[in-house]
Amino acid sequence: MRTKKKEIDYENITPEDLKGEVKFEVEIDSEAPVYCTDCHIKMDSTKIDIKRGNIILMNVDANKCPKCGKELLDVETASRVEREFALRHSEELKGYDVKISSDGRNYLIRFPKELSKMLATKKIAKILPIDADEFVLKVM
Ligand SMILES: [Zn+2]
Repeated sequence: MRTKKKEIDYENITPEDLKGEVKFEVEIDSEAPVYCTDCHIKMDSTKIDIKRGNIILMNVDANKCPKCGKELLDVETASRVEREFALRHSEELKGYDVKISSDGRNYLIRFPKELSKMLATKKIAKILPIDADEFVLKVM
């Protein structure tokens, strides 16, 4: 199943790339051999560094065209990279150190006042694991 792809120009990342919609090249089917969309030849598995602003993610699994050098991420990697950038970016904007307390069964995290105002209108939170010790909390 090969479906739609999205494109990113890694060489010319603008400030606009940091906010709003960020585009990535996504190869939907990660099992099948990956072909360059321009040269139509098989791409090699490689590791790439992805830089956005002053954030760099190292050794990201990717496919690279041996002819034109075009890079593709599979959809899983692309979404992980996307979350990672979002997390790193939000940490750069503002971070809060909060204590984790526990009653033995539940873990409680006290939200900073500025954030809890917004939480009053929310009912559901979704936790997106980025890594073993990193999470993004999405309130809905
Ligand atoms: Zn190519």
